[in-house]
Amino acid sequence: MHEMGIMSGVLEACTATAEREGATRINEIRVRIGELSEVMEDALRFAFEALSVGTLAEGGRLEIEHVAATSRCVDCRVEFSHGRFDVACPQCGNVLCEAVSGRELEIDSIDIDLPGDEAGTAS
Ligand SMILES: [Zn+2]
Repeated sequence: MHEMGIMSGVLEACTATAEREGATRINEIRVRIGELSEVMEDALRFAFEALSVGTLAEGGRLEIEHVAATSRCVDCRVEFSHGRFDVACPQCGNVLCEAVSGRELEIDSIDIDLPGDEAGTAS
């Protein structure tokens, strides 16, 4: 299950950032997953639950945003977004298209608690 490897990289990057900021906790990690990436959301969530134990992200949330794939027609150079199985140029119908994006998995943002920060809940 390669989601374990992906999530361990994500957690490593996020905890490194959080530690540099002096954070006491990571509340939320947002990642963007391209429509064409081979990542299973359930597996990624499972990996997060398993790997975040003992880190700053333990008990935090994982937010996953799906990003539509984008391709470019090799003939008319039109760029268009599409789902996983419907790659065809909207202009000329060509199915010979090169992928522009859609395979990425990137960290969008993280939400951290800083010391003395009362997590935004007014009492
Ligand atoms: Zn075209």
